[in-house]
Amino acid sequence: MCGILPGGLPSEPVLGELDGIRGWLDAAARVAVLTGAGVSTPSGIPDFRGPNGLWTKDPGAAAMFDIDRYRADADLRRRAWLNRRDHPAWTASPNAAHHAFVALERSGRLSALLTQNIDGLHQAAGSSPDLVVELHGTLYFSACLDCGERVPMQDVLARVDAGEPDPSCLVCGGMQRSATVAFGQALDPDVLDRAVAAAQDCDVFLAAGTSLQVNPAAGLCAVALRAGAQLVVANGSATPYDEVAHAVVRGDLTEVLPALLM
Ligand SMILES: [Zn+2]
Repeated sequence: MCGILPGGLPSEPVLGELDGIRGWLDAAARVAVLTGAGVSTPSGIPDFRGPNGLWTKDPGAAAMFDIDRYRADADLRRRAWLNRRDHPAWTASPNAAHHAFVALERSGRLSALLTQNIDGLHQAAGSSPDLVVELHGTLYFSACLDCGERVPMQDVLARVDAGEPDPSCLVCGGMQRSATVAFGQALDPDVLDRAVAAAQDCDVFLAAGTSLQVNPAAGLCAVALRAGAQLVVANGSATPYDEVAHAVVRGDLTEVLPALLM
């Protein structure tokens, strides 16, 4: 843990003092990042709970993310595959926020890029796949709920387009679902272990574009704080960690993150 703040910690969260926060980030040897939906909304990927969120506009869509309802309801599975087929991620491009994390990596200070997003846009921007930890899985694969077989999502979607409403696993005949974490499903323990280790081993933990309301991802902020890291929260709206963060930045992340990181 290096001393990032020569003058000691500020007693109150710093709001919007980008130059000062940039100084901490420049001085940090290891910056771990956690990103959420707010990093991808400027690329046209809707979040879940925001004003234009998927569940705000269509509360019924939330059922697709409940693993018990998914297992029990064939029509829901049919709709879920169509939802995956029509997902905006297939045609989206990374935005300036994604590119800012690539710049951070090139500076040699990025230790891990933990993301709650499933859209693959960090990798599309050029972030090293080795550093990206997809906490909630990926849209790019499908997984069998019975045998665990993973296949490229496009292969499954081709079967959907060919007329199969709910393609079953070609290995065991079991039920498949996108390789994303649903409500009622635990995170992959190896993935979570990697994320916890990254939160424990950084000088600054930067949470960006996440409302920090979903555990265990949000709890990584607490892990980082306990390990002695500085916590910086950059988000469009308030989060439960604002009070304990060393700095809180509000604003358009496509402007804020380049200002902090590039
Ligand atoms: Zn299977």
